[in-house]
Amino acid sequence: MTSVLERIHIGRATFSVEFMPPRDDADEQILWRSIRELEGLDPAFVSVTYGAGGSRRDRTIRTTGRVARETTLVPMAHLTAVDHSVAELRNVIGWYAAVGVRNVLALRGDPPGDPMGEWVKHPQGLSYAEDLVRLVRELGEFCVGVAAFPYGHPRCTDVEMDADRLVSKLRAGADFAIGQLCYSAEDFLRLRDRVAARGCDAPILPGVMPLTTPKMLSKTVELSGAPVPPHIAARLEPLADDPKAFRAEGIDVVTEMCQQLLAEGVDVLHFYTFNRAKATKEVLGRLGLVPSRTA
Ligand code: FAD
Repeated sequence: MTSVLERIHIGRATFSVEFMPPRDDADEQILWRSIRELEGLDPAFVSVTYGAGGSRRDRTIRTTGRVARETTLVPMAHLTAVDHSVAELRNVIGWYAAVGVRNVLALRGDPPGDPMGEWVKHPQGLSYAEDLVRLVRELGEFCVGVAAFPYGHPRCTDVEMDADRLVSKLRAGADFAIGQLCYSAEDFLRLRDRVAARGCDAPILPGVMPLTTPKMLSKTVELSGAPVPPHIAARLEPLADDPKAFRAEGIDVVTEMCQQLLAEGVDVLHFYTFNRAKATKEVLGRLGLVPSRTA
C-alpha cells in the first residue's frame, strides 16, 4: 500500500488536496465530481477531514475507503482524539486499515461547539496529538502526519514553544506535518526554519487555499486565525464589491505565494479545496503542476 511519504519524495514539485466528508447525497455528488476532476492531475495524496459526532466520523471511513477502492489516489484519513477513549481510537484506526487506508493525520482536535473552549480529555482518552501519533504507530504500518501552525497554535502564544511541541510530535513518530492555511510564504518559511533549527528535517507541507470570494477570505481568517498580510489586503479590499475582479486577484495572490514557496525549495503544496476543484486546478495550471495532457 502506497504511503504518503513515498508520494511526497518524488524529486519534483507536486501537490496534495484536502476534502471534507459529505453531509448528504448532494454533497457527496459534489465531492466525487471534484475527486474525479483532480484525480487526473495526479495529486500526491488526498486527505479527508474528521468531524465531530458519530455519523460524520463514519463518513471519513467511508470516503477514504471508497477513494482507496475506486480511484488511483492515495487516501489519508484525519483522526482526532475528541470524545474518544483509547479503545474507540484503536477501533477507528482498525477500520481505516480494514478499508485500505494506511495514512493517518493524527490530531488532538478542538472541543465540540467552541474551538477555544476548555479542552476536556475523554476519561479514557488522550491529551495531545503526540499521544495519538504513538498509538497509531503502535497499531501497525501506518504513515503518520501531524498539524503545524505557522503562527503557533491559537492556544500557545509562544511560537518557539509551539515549534518545540511540533518537533516533539514529529519525534514521537510522525513522518511529516501539514501547515494550517496561511497567506504569507515568509511566515510559513519562518516555521520551517524554526523546525530546522531544532535539528528536525521532516517535510512540512504549506496549507494553501485559493481565494475566490471576500466571504471565503473572512471565514478562513476567522476559522484559522491566519492574518492577511497588509500588502495582500491592499490588493483585495478595493475589489470587495467586484466578484470577478476579486476572484482574479485572489487567484493571482495565491499563485504568487505558491511560486515563492516552490522557489524556496518547498516540494509539496497542500490545497484546502472545500470540496471544489475549479480554483485549485486554476492555481495548479498557473504553476505548471498540471500534467501537459490535461493543461
Ligand atoms: P496538539 O499538537 O495536541 O496541540 C494542542 C495544543 O496543546 C497546542 O496549543 C499545543 O501547543 C499544546 N501542546 C501540545 N503538546 C503539549 C504538551 N506535551 N504539553 C502541553 N501542551 C502541549 N480538526 C478536526 O476536528 N478535524 C480535522 O480533520 C482537522 N484537520 C486538520 C488538519 C490540519 C492540517 C490542521 C492544521 C488542523 C486540523 N484540525 C482538524 C484542527 C486541529 O484539530 C486543531 O487545531 C486542534 O486545536 C489542535 O490539534 P493538534 O493536533 O495540533 O493538537
